[in-house]
This record gives sequence, structure tokens and C-alpha cells, in this order.
Amino acid sequence: MRDALPPALHVRDLEAWYGESHVLHGMTLRVEQGEVVTLVGRNGAGKTTTLRAIMGMLEKVKGAIDHEGKDLLALRSNQIARRGIGYCPEERGIFASLSVEENLMLPVNVSADGMEVAELYTLFPNLAERRHGQANKLSGGEQQMLAIARILRTGATLLLLDEPTEGLAPAIVQQIARMFRLLRERAYTILLVEQNVRFASKLADRHYVVEHGKVIDMLSSDDLAIRRSHIETYLGV
Ligand code: ATP
Repeated sequence: MRDALPPALHVRDLEAWYGESHVLHGMTLRVEQGEVVTLVGRNGAGKTTTLRAIMGMLEKVKGAIDHEGKDLLALRSNQIARRGIGYCPEERGIFASLSVEENLMLPVNVSADGMEVAELYTLFPNLAERRHGQANKLSGGEQQMLAIARILRTGATLLLLDEPTEGLAPAIVQQIARMFRLLRERAYTILLVEQNVRFASKLADRHYVVEHGKVIDMLSSDDLAIRRSHIETYLGV
């Protein structure tokens, strides 16, 4: 019955500015409920800005952003978070001086669906082992898991993730891949910025190629895998 549901996210003709600088030029994309979709594109193409615009973090935007059929554009960031949308920026947003457990206890549980800490430890055994350790002593991969665990704790069901594998060693990327599979099984909807083409082609359903602030192409994971070296050259990665 998936067809009967409104899309988890529908962005249409989105324009966005930083001051006078016009950065998004008609960004249009759609993510169905339970889908994992990536934004790929060169540096400065507007991927992060798209996520920030969805979260209501930009002052000047025009166009339409709907979440499960309801308008987001008129809402403030905290109201958008309360609708069940979680954002993990590239810099991850964890509290470095606090322990893992303190980081997990801090986010406000915005809905009854927020995951309990015990359940998060089942999902992320590495975090359970390090629960009393300081967050800044975690490896890059564990910090990424903690950042995502904090979002799951809020009860968010649509996750916007900015380059979760950036700077991580291949073995750690495998751990992040495992985490994505678990989130997929639990029907989370995920829109992620991802430049690791191999990782993206294995985990996501579809891929939007972003250039100059808009989508210029959409690829299936098979297309992405087949054209991997061409796309890596295009992305400069
Ligand atoms: P990257 O991976 O390099 O972040 P991106 O596709 O995510 O690439 P954005 O960060 O969305 O790109 O940037 C889009 C454009 O907006 C770029 O030209 C960038 O220089 C500009 N930009 C980004 N943040 C700001 C800001 N805070 N103020 C002004 N311009 C900005």
C-alpha cells in the first residue's frame, strides 16, 4: 500500500540564498516513506544547503517543502524537528566533553516513538561498550553512530544526514553500512549527502545528482555502480 502514502519528503522548485548569494536554483526532489536516497554532487553544488533549507535553517527560501503531505516551509527549525525530522550535520553535533550516555540522555524526546537508550545500545553495541567514556575519545565512526543515535532518541523517522562516512577508514565505513541496513529494516526514511559512491550504491535506493543548486539527473543504484569510475571522476573524489 506504499503508493497510497504521501511522500515522506517532497521538495519543489526550491530557491535559497545566503544574503545576496543565490545558491539553490529550483531544487526538486522526492523521497518516499522508507526510502534511502542520496544527494551526490561536486563541492559547492548545494547539497548541504538543501538539507539546511529543509530544516528551516535558512533565512531566505522560496518554493515548496512538504513532509508527509504537510507544508514545512512556514515552520521554524524546532517545529520541524518536532514533526519527526532529524538532521545530522557534517560536524556531527555531539557534546565532546560529555559521556556517551549523557549524550544519549540529553536530547528531548519529541515523540512517544523516541528510542529508549537500552534499545539504542542493542542497535549500536560499540556505544554500549563505551557508555561511560567521553564522547571525544570515541573513534570517528563511533562519533558518527552517537550522532545518529541521538537523533533516533528524539523519535525522528526522517533522517537528513550530511556525509556520514566522510574521513572514516574503510573498516569503519563497513560499520556505518551495517547501521544503515538496520535503519532500513526498521523503515526509517533517509536523505543523505554522500560522496562515497561505492557505499552509496550499496545502501541507497536512488541518487540525485546536484549541480548549481538543482537536480540534473537521477540514478538508480545499479546505474551508479555501473558508472562508478565516471561519477567519481566527475565528483573529483
Ligand atoms: P560541500 O560538500 O562543499 O559542502 P555542498 O554541495 O554541500 O558542497 P553547500 O555547502 O550547500 O554545497 O554550498 C553551496 C554554495 O553556497 C557554495 O557556493 C558555498 O560556497 C555557499 N555557501 C555555503 N554556506 C554558506 C554560508 N554560510 N554563507 C554564504 N555562502 C555559503
